[in-house]
Amino acid sequence: MSTDTGVAPATEGDRAMAVHATPAVEPVISVRNLWKVFGEKADGVPGSTELSSLSRKELKEATGCVAAVCDLSFDVAPGEVFVVMGLSGSGKSTLVRCLTRLIEPTAGEVVFQGEDILNCNEKALRDLRRQRISMVFQHFGLLPHRRVVDNVAYGLEIRGTAKAERLRRAAEVIDLVGLTGYEHSFPDQLSGGMQQRVGLARALAGDPDVLLFDEPFSALDPLIRRDMQNEVIRLHHEVGKTMVFITHDLSEALKLGDRILIMRDGRLVQIGTGAELVGAPADDYVRDFVREVPRSHVLTLRWIMRPVADGDDLEGPEFGPDVIVRDAVRAVLEAERPIKVVADGRLLGVVGNAEILAVVAGS
Ligand code: ADP
Ligand code: MG
Repeated sequence: MSTDTGVAPATEGDRAMAVHATPAVEPVISVRNLWKVFGEKADGVPGSTELSSLSRKELKEATGCVAAVCDLSFDVAPGEVFVVMGLSGSGKSTLVRCLTRLIEPTAGEVVFQGEDILNCNEKALRDLRRQRISMVFQHFGLLPHRRVVDNVAYGLEIRGTAKAERLRRAAEVIDLVGLTGYEHSFPDQLSGGMQQRVGLARALAGDPDVLLFDEPFSALDPLIRRDMQNEVIRLHHEVGKTMVFITHDLSEALKLGDRILIMRDGRLVQIGTGAELVGAPADDYVRDFVREVPRSHVLTLRWIMRPVADGDDLEGPEFGPDVIVRDAVRAVLEAERPIKVVADGRLLGVVGNAEILAVVAGS
């Protein structure tokens, strides 16, 4: 992405390019032209120039089919928290289930660590779901008659891990999610937040490469929800797993996501960092989503800096281009001169009171 090049996206055109660029590293998951169409004539839709270009509503009227996911392509980088966001019905759950073929895609490719999982046989798929990709659901999916420790160890049990090793690993991840002391409780003795911690521990127990989350916190109270979001951030720092996180909540997306994919009616609308979505929304749908976001909390200095002008006093303090505006407000307002935005020893631009106030006033 452009943030790696150290070059400021100076024009709308540059910014649009930044939004579409893919990470330079080998992706963990690479989705290409993925379709999931429900209905009797589903198979004919992706390959038909005419049908594949219809909106979801038009397709439904013409064929009775529902296009839940339409021609989606994106890459997820190793260690990234990749968020998929959209209103209810936009196709998020269908998409995330297609990634492990819990729902069978109609067309396209899902390449996981170099292998197209659409070509996997049943055994390879089972191994994929048991060992390499774990999922955390909104409705925790815990086994009610099993204690916490046995819920957490369940995946290891069906994998055939020996009991002593299962219990050792379960104790480890129970500790990791802060549930030590509750090993022998039953799920219904725990609050919603704690049940979701069990879900997290269960997903982590098998040490998967990727964690998929489908709106895991949507049913939780706001305060618990905030705790759980912080928990995911902490876990991400500690275990560094690649995560694909589904949500309909923009503030959750901005808080967790390294990049965010916005979906509408099955289609990709925009992929970008929070700053890219807020700074250069692709259309009115995205603009509506980001309207209420305090811009100074999301935009970085590269988005608000201006070119150096003749007569600028360049003795001000230096900041990196990826510093969030909010974190530079005080320094800018206190400095008697513009601050310099510098990357790799290169002066990219400057930020003065006018640039800061334009953002803060608009927040
Ligand atoms: P989201 O998770 O974003 O709310 P979903 O992936 O659940 O969206 O659904 C996307 C669209 O696909 C919706 O219009 C939904 O009604 C439709 N859909 C989902 N599952 C099925 C199914 N099994 N049969 C027919 N339509 C479905
Ligand atoms: Mg859903």
